[in-house]
Amino acid sequence: MLHTLTIGELGRSLASRQISSVELTRHFLARIERLNPNLNALITLTAEQALAGAAVADRRRASGEQGPLLGIPLIHKDIFCTQGVRTSCGSHMLDNFVAPYDATVVTRLKAAGTVMLGKANMDEFAMGSSNETSYYGPVKNPWDPAKVPGGSSGGSAAATAARLAPFATGTDTGGSIRQPAALTGITGVKPTYGRVSRYGMIAFASSLDQAGVLTRTAADAAIVLQTMAGFDPQDSTSVEVPVPDYHATLDAPLKGLRIGMLREFFDGLETRNAALIRDAIKVYTALGATTVDVSLPHLPLSVPTYYVVGPAECSSNLSRYDGVRFGYRCRQPKDLSDLYKRSRGEGFGAEVKRRIMTGTYVLSAGYFDAYYLKAQKVRQLITDEFRAAFEQVDLLIGPTTPTPAFDIGAKIDDPITMYLNDIYTIGANLAGLPGLSMPCGFVDGLPMGVQLIGPHFSEGRLLNAAHQYQQATDWHRHVARGYE
Ligand code: GLN
Repeated sequence: MLHTLTIGELGRSLASRQISSVELTRHFLARIERLNPNLNALITLTAEQALAGAAVADRRRASGEQGPLLGIPLIHKDIFCTQGVRTSCGSHMLDNFVAPYDATVVTRLKAAGTVMLGKANMDEFAMGSSNETSYYGPVKNPWDPAKVPGGSSGGSAAATAARLAPFATGTDTGGSIRQPAALTGITGVKPTYGRVSRYGMIAFASSLDQAGVLTRTAADAAIVLQTMAGFDPQDSTSVEVPVPDYHATLDAPLKGLRIGMLREFFDGLETRNAALIRDAIKVYTALGATTVDVSLPHLPLSVPTYYVVGPAECSSNLSRYDGVRFGYRCRQPKDLSDLYKRSRGEGFGAEVKRRIMTGTYVLSAGYFDAYYLKAQKVRQLITDEFRAAFEQVDLLIGPTTPTPAFDIGAKIDDPITMYLNDIYTIGANLAGLPGLSMPCGFVDGLPMGVQLIGPHFSEGRLLNAAHQYQQATDWHRHVARGYE
């Protein structure tokens, strides 16, 4: 069955002409049609363009062109601008927005020959940890439709876990790739800040946002990241550092790898979750790694720090949605002020409004020093502590989430409880570090993730460590019932 194959396997079948991209695309489109109504993972389907793109990819193959992604279908998170295709960012505000250009991530993946099947549901403006804030309704977790898939890249994660596509793109501002990857049993990579272009990726919190990928295996993530990563003059925070060959180092032995066990990640960790992480550590020690205890005393402050910095930046970024230039406009405004107020009042959902209000407050003249400036100082302390830790260790290991997927509706009315889902993922965003989550076992029949965090630009090392783990274990091969 075509949907059971990895990107690597599909690439080989396409190269040997055993299958065509059109055939592959038809297969996934049929799966989406049959299974997406249970999941609500995709909110826009681009079947016609996909089939046309697949035919082009087949012609490129026929004329002798090669490439690991040539003819491979994918789903883009609806935060990436896609020319001529609605780009809603999960919001009523952009429900009618058709992007006039492609994001760099989309351009690069398109040039490599990928075929977009559609756009993935997501939390509104990527604000959320459960994919319940979307204007298009919640995404269901393939492992249990009563549970959330995690957020904000929940549609991307559910679609990849349900094998509606070989992979999907995502973004991670405070955990939005790693957290849904963990809760749906797949592999998610959040690269170093600046490694992948943010051009054309709708901004939430610009100093934290980073694009990445959701796949079934680390080896597949290496293939996709190879194409996504790299300098982009269109993004002023894109870093001009050469992209190493991620595939070439996947099989490097782990002997001597120093893995740091973050005390702050294990303090208070639920026992079954802790047991899974300790099992993962045992796999690593069997592979030749050594463990070192490390502590980042300010890390527990990462959630409050993020929920000052993130809203501050979002309040500024989202001021562009004013009902004038693009996006939602209220009906029959009385005057300009009414136009602004009602367009924003009707166009944004509750969580986005909460963030804008918090952000505006912490940036206001009387409170700037007490909140925003203080948060920036703590952010620096956390960054410095990570840097010091990486003088002793090569990677840090810990859980991705405090619990497995929770019930839809369980936390949506309690923002603080919802924000605490991000407790293990936010630190990497504050420090701009790369992080990866991969499946490491089950709690109550639901998948759990183990997280690896590395120093800046250590994606190759993270992918290598994850690939070695996946060679030694088979957690990443489990599939939710009904999606085999
Ligand atoms: N859950 C976090 C938030 O709501 C992170 C979201 C994200 O990474 N986009 O802000």
